[in-house]
Amino acid sequence: MKDRVGWTVLYLNPATPDLYEVMREETPPGLDLLFLESWQPAEVNAKLPRADAFLIADAALTADMIQHASKLRMVQHQGVGYERIDAKALAKAGVPLALCPAGMAEAVGEHTVLLILAALKRLVAAHESMVAGRWLMWELRPSTRNLHGKTVGLIGFGRTGRGVAKCLRGFDVRVIAHDPYITLSDREKSEFGVALVTKATLLHEADIVSLHVPLTPETRHLIGKAELGQMKASAVLVNVSRGGVIDQDAVYEALRDRRIMAAALDVYSPEPLPAGHPLTRLDNVVLTPHVAAGTLDAFRTKMRFALGNIARAMSGEEPLERVPGT
Ligand code: NAD
Repeated sequence: MKDRVGWTVLYLNPATPDLYEVMREETPPGLDLLFLESWQPAEVNAKLPRADAFLIADAALTADMIQHASKLRMVQHQGVGYERIDAKALAKAGVPLALCPAGMAEAVGEHTVLLILAALKRLVAAHESMVAGRWLMWELRPSTRNLHGKTVGLIGFGRTGRGVAKCLRGFDVRVIAHDPYITLSDREKSEFGVALVTKATLLHEADIVSLHVPLTPETRHLIGKAELGQMKASAVLVNVSRGGVIDQDAVYEALRDRRIMAAALDVYSPEPLPAGHPLTRLDNVVLTPHVAAGTLDAFRTKMRFALGNIARAMSGEEPLERVPGT
């Protein structure tokens, strides 16, 4: 039997020592991890040619970088939204790109429900007023709401949309979804407790509009001024998909003018959201820094899958979750 030659895996996002430790614990035999100390071009350029595989979270992967990575045999993405990875350049170079849906639906589902509740119950205002020494026991009541009895509208009903629907069981809500690219069997409809509707119906009827689509030319600014105008004045908009799926300026104006009740956002254009951005000065938003799928538990699950998938490719098998065409 031929000796198996190990692969060097370059993690293309500078992370933290704790996370690197999790990665080491989840690394199968035969893989060597290589980390970046910084995102300085000199360091990145020196390390690219040493890698047999890239493991990548949200960093951009350009055609230039791919060309520079002379040994590259696989790119494993840590998530599923790969609009910053040049998949065409990978296809041209004959390098497969694999995604990592593992651990995501649960983490994003929980985070979405957290954001919905935080927006409805004004958790941030309650906390901040306590920290500032103010007791708003009565003042918060007129502007807070229950989730119970509301209609939750999910735009996009793939993995994360379904993850949210699962987490919502038990809240006694009506769940509707808009996704023109799927059909649901009767069994799935009852499993998720969901009805598929048109976008217009969803915008009109939902108390909470939550976005779960990939960023594509078709979904860019899927929620803009016109769509905001179709939503209830009491509606909450939640975005855990990609910043570009909403027209961020139009959402800011709708929030400022109280044309919708609140928004809870995890993703922005650009990222990071610049410090002091007008959105950060509103009292009807809840903002988190692109962490919906970012818990330690989800990270471990992702690393187990992603590094296992690289080991699978190293041993000559077809990687799981390969992006078609790469
Ligand atoms: P998925 O591919 O499983 O589901 C996406 C769904 O959107 C599909 O069912 C598709 O048919 C539907 N869709 C596509 N275009 C649509 C349109 N115009 N209108 C309505 N539906 C449409 O993807 P997913 O795993 O649910 O993830 C969705 C996106 O969320 C990812 O592409 C990624 O960008 C983002 N995401 C963000 C985080 C985070 O941490 N914030 C984590 C995971 C995923």
